[in-house]
Amino acid sequence: MNCFKADACSRRDIQRFVYSLKKKVGLENELYFPVIEFLENVLPMIIPDFNYEIVSEKEMGNKHGETYPSKNLIRIREDVYDRAVAGEGRDRLTVAHEIGHLFMHEDDCVALCRLEPDEKLKPFEDPEWQADCFGGELLASSYLIKGMRAWEVEERCGVSGAAARCQLKHCK
Ligand SMILES: [Zn+2]
Repeated sequence: MNCFKADACSRRDIQRFVYSLKKKVGLENELYFPVIEFLENVLPMIIPDFNYEIVSEKEMGNKHGETYPSKNLIRIREDVYDRAVAGEGRDRLTVAHEIGHLFMHEDDCVALCRLEPDEKLKPFEDPEWQADCFGGELLASSYLIKGMRAWEVEERCGVSGAAARCQLKHCK
């Protein structure tokens, strides 16, 4: 989805936003972010018409998740959901990524304007980069993991090794 551009949003902005969101629901000190409980129980409380759907692999194809911010709707592929429930880091991150789209982006084509043909997308204008950044920060918050080893972040935050290393890089 690289032909779309969102409002510029730095990693620092996203870190701050994630902290305020976690604080709002009293989860700011939890190392293991309960992303499924957040999806199922907390989001409907803070966004009254929020909905999520678990969609079969047959219907969803190779997409792991998708979000329609204007409808306050997140759809997660069934196998991804099941693995996220089981604690698989990569799938937990997929759910967190979709939650990022929900909070940060308007709808697919409405608010995200198409790029001019010769215009390059800066990372912080790329909605996918922003959602990845949000997801990583939600699950392994930089202010909580400072000084930890990658394996420790992986274990305690429930993220993949790659995500743990990536988050640690941004704590310095
Ligand atoms: Zn995305």
